[in-house]
Amino acid sequence: MRHSDPYEIPTFVTHLECPATGERFEADTVQGLSSAGKPLLVRYDLDGIAASVTKTDLAGRPDGMWRYREFLPVRRTEDIVSLGESATPLVTLPRLAAEMGADEILVKDEGRLPTGSFKARGLSMAVSMAKELDLTRLAMPTNGNAGAALAAYGSRAGIDTYVFCPDDTPEVNVREIAMQGAHVWRVNGLINDCGKIVGAGKEAMGWFDVSTLKEPYRIEGKKTMGLELADQLGWQVPDVIFYPTGGGTGLIGMWKAFLELREIGWLTGPLPRMVAVQSTGCAPIVRAYDEGADHADLWENAFTIASGIRVPVAIGDFLILEAVRDSGGFAIAVSDEEIAAAQERVPATDGLLLCPEGAATFAAYERSLADGLVSPEDRVVLFNCGNGLKYPMPPAERSLDHTQPIDWESLSEE
Ligand SMILES: *Cc1c(COP(=O)(O)O)cnc(C)c1O
Repeated sequence: MRHSDPYEIPTFVTHLECPATGERFEADTVQGLSSAGKPLLVRYDLDGIAASVTKTDLAGRPDGMWRYREFLPVRRTEDIVSLGESATPLVTLPRLAAEMGADEILVKDEGRLPTGSFKARGLSMAVSMAKELDLTRLAMPTNGNAGAALAAYGSRAGIDTYVFCPDDTPEVNVREIAMQGAHVWRVNGLINDCGKIVGAGKEAMGWFDVSTLKEPYRIEGKKTMGLELADQLGWQVPDVIFYPTGGGTGLIGMWKAFLELREIGWLTGPLPRMVAVQSTGCAPIVRAYDEGADHADLWENAFTIASGIRVPVAIGDFLILEAVRDSGGFAIAVSDEEIAAAQERVPATDGLLLCPEGAATFAAYERSLADGLVSPEDRVVLFNCGNGLKYPMPPAERSLDHTQPIDWESLSEE
């Protein structure tokens, strides 16, 4: 028996739903994909939410993802597995905006979250739900950040975790996963090959698969990016959101947040145009968008320095494409050269270190502005999803001999 918390907040989950067929599944039981093999979405009694909480109530709570409890699936406060997910700031890029002739560029810097990436939102939620549903062993394939978050939240919950990464995953990620207590392996393949190991090991290992979108709750965690963004802007939304899209959880989750907020009347007027940013080395969603397709085909020989968006096939492809199209957004791919250039330019100009995926959104914004896909007056939000310090940086090799006279002139040379 669990004791009940005196500060328990009412929750409003009614059921889980297959977005492809509308088939309903029971909440509060362990669920993976729908019977059609699609990701399940959590549905709420939105009228109930609207009747039970106000914007003012929320403003009186601590900031961060758990502020939005009524919009989230965890029933019991004691099941929340948290490492201090404070709200992430919206950082302006004033010097770059001036250079580019844009009114304002906002970066939502998700690198400030526990484990250094926005994967903390999804995994804090998924592990909390795993705890609520008494799961004891979880597994996932990862390009790094999701595995780090799973490891950290899993350890904190006393849940056993197994993580499989492509063998070229950045070293720091693999070590971080190991230090945070997961069983971690490097695999000589891509993330989808790692995913096959997780699928194949289910019976022998008895683990639950927390791969992107293969359980219903990571989306709800990422949904808090949309809730938080609207909250930060005074329950307004930006005109355009540039999102580095791998499995697409964040894009799908934010769009779900905006629809739910509109449904309860907290957002009125146009919703943001959602832009899916990928790399030219792995752009299945961009290709499908360009072809007018509803689903994306596997991208062969995927390669990009932005490992978080190196996802050759996404099970939520149709949901990403739907959000992009329904919002009047678009999908765009940038090259690794453009990503690397942005990764150098943004911190050197405005002091904000970006992860490669975040840099991709800057490069995509710059190109979209040049191509007239967005206007300089549009209020845009770029997502920097990971802390730049987690990624390899170019070497800085100049040194001085303090016992010798210094040639001051030479210090300012490039
Ligand atoms: C996972 C990840 C992404 C992609 O996020 P999705 O919501 O899965 O599309 C982008 N950037 C970074 C740094 C990531 O870790």
